[in-house]
Amino acid sequence: MALAGVISGTVAVATEDSGDSSASSSVELTLPPSSDATRHTPTASPADPGPSGPVSSEMAHETERGGKSVALTIDDGPDPRWTPKTLEVLKKNGIKATFCMIGPSAKAHPDLVRKVLADGHRLCDHSVDHNTAMDKRSEDYQKQQILDAKKMIEDVAAGAKVRYYRAPGGAFTPYSRQLAAANGMRPLGWSVDTHDWQRPGVDRIVETVKREIANGPIILFHDGGGERSQSVEALARCIGWLKEEGYGFDFPKI
Ligand SMILES: [Zn+2]
Repeated sequence: MALAGVISGTVAVATEDSGDSSASSSVELTLPPSSDATRHTPTASPADPGPSGPVSSEMAHETERGGKSVALTIDDGPDPRWTPKTLEVLKKNGIKATFCMIGPSAKAHPDLVRKVLADGHRLCDHSVDHNTAMDKRSEDYQKQQILDAKKMIEDVAAGAKVRYYRAPGGAFTPYSRQLAAANGMRPLGWSVDTHDWQRPGVDRIVETVKREIANGPIILFHDGGGERSQSVEALARCIGWLKEEGYGFDFPKI
């Protein structure tokens, strides 16, 4: 099986907000942070044209430039209430992140998609309907969910491309990873699940990041799918802690 080697590593059960209650298992590769203390802040063009070469169908589990760095990934928006607050925190700290957007939400809020891009962040396809059981559905269904969302996002993205695909709840399949890659989107997992969407309290979200950062550099937050004031506050505190610890901020590797 072509992708058998891709999913070695620690198996972590991860649940993600969806508006529906089903939870999916997600296989995440965990890597210890490198001791290389390279610090960098990535830059992206406001109209990010996308990758120039072929995109791997393996799950992204590293940052683009490696070293002691993390990639902040923000899911389930754009949302008119929470995306601007999230952008404010990132801008104040001079940090670029990756926004995993729901297709119809992007279509409904083109101004927010363009604001995300104007601030130098990257886009990720997070499907049309956020069906966390889409890995159990037909290939045709998966294709519709992935490619329709990509189109909805790119239709309002002023020439920018969607660079990643993250299955809702981590419900990837070998087929969906290959389809995403063939359409220029790197499959994107996560290594630190903050569970912020469950609103466990800001302190707990921050503690989760501190505890799980050893798992790897891709950190999951949310700016949509519900009330996200805890997410916004915890994001700011986590960024402060990560900076104190000497982490740089980067995009996930494509
Ligand atoms: Zn999600």
